Amino acid sequence: MARIVMKFGGTSMAGIERIRNVATRVKREWDAGNDVAVVVSAMSGETDRLVNFCREASPLYDPREYDVVVASGEQVTSGLLAIVLQAMGVPARSWLGWQLPIRTSDAHASARIGSIDTDRLAAAFANREVAVIPGFQGLTDDERITTLGRGGSDTSAVAVAAAMKADRCDIYTDVDGVYTTDPRIVPKARKLDKITYEEMLELASVGAKVLQTRSVGLAMKEKVRVQVLTSFEDKPGTLIVGEEEIEGNGMERQLITGIAYDRNEAKVTLVAVPDRPGAVATIFTPLANANINVDMIVQNVAHDSGNTDVTFTVPTAELTRALDVLDKARTDIGYEKVLSDSNVCKVSVVGVGMRSHAGVAATMFAALADRKINILAISTSEIKTSVLIDADFTELAVRVLHTAYGLDAPDTAAE
Ligand code: ASP
Ligand code: MG
Repeated sequence: MARIVMKFGGTSMAGIERIRNVATRVKREWDAGNDVAVVVSAMSGETDRLVNFCREASPLYDPREYDVVVASGEQVTSGLLAIVLQAMGVPARSWLGWQLPIRTSDAHASARIGSIDTDRLAAAFANREVAVIPGFQGLTDDERITTLGRGGSDTSAVAVAAAMKADRCDIYTDVDGVYTTDPRIVPKARKLDKITYEEMLELASVGAKVLQTRSVGLAMKEKVRVQVLTSFEDKPGTLIVGEEEIEGNGMERQLITGIAYDRNEAKVTLVAVPDRPGAVATIFTPLANANINVDMIVQNVAHDSGNTDVTFTVPTAELTRALDVLDKARTDIGYEKVLSDSNVCKVSVVGVGMRSHAGVAATMFAALADRKINILAISTSEIKTSVLIDADFTELAVRVLHTAYGLDAPDTAAE
């Protein structure tokens, strides 16, 4: 007997027929004698619909009331799943965020979970009852409803699993696992059996959006074993676990686990910045104060003139704001002109194997050079190397790197 949290995304909950399919899966786990808590998303499209209602009601809506509105999508699906389970003979009831409660910060629309009271869930399990919990929602200390930010049901599920010390947190979604790269770009991409938390975090943060990034960070911190799988077929998905569980594969372990790309960054170059101590601070301090996240940074060697060029990236959505901040700081920084380009893409190779192997970056640069793909900026972490390239070469770069690191599936007869 195990204790498991099952989480179903919006596609799995879209309509009563699909909710019946979900209930069948839940019943199977419950029949096996397991303690089962289910965390559900709203039906797909529903949260968008609710968000639009708020915007239509007033562009300057009160975020506390926004949360009341958008949290309702999950209330509907949790009640419906409980009804369907009961009709199948499985004792079940819904537990809304405020009824447990799930306490959060008061950052409405992007609240963080503080604690989950597990007494009622423990009592439900003791009665052999399935607990259905709407994801995405919680309650502040002064009893206002909150939501966790888009995609937040994943985080709810991991938090419930951590609080209940669950043996597993199964996240059912519309893909059947985590792939070495986007299968729409590389048909030879392979589904991974296992991936480490850290790798998953890096992949998620560079654009492979299978889970809400925050949920992966939480799973890593709380050591929750997460499995990503599909609710539409019976087959194992991808396990997200600690590195020690993967090391068993020893020498055979792939050096690189996956390749991700992110088109949501824009490149900014400040031409002819005076090359003196403190110059860089005059650029990045006002950007930080404006809450603009700078990612890759390149500073050129100084020209004879005593000036240098500084290139960096910001989220595309923040480009206009960033240019405005830089314009206002122009005399302070003392640059000659600003160039910007949003037709760029960040391509990253990720793998814990990078820690112990040299030459990973060199392979990347050589493979790209071979195809005449120019590198505009580079950044690295312990387990990731990223390059910025012209967005027109995204598909080519991802395909070439997938092959260069030996990630292509062996069976390519179908292609
Ligand atoms: N329903 C919410 C959303 O669409 C939360 C979730 O599904 O994870 O963002
Ligand atoms: Mg989701």
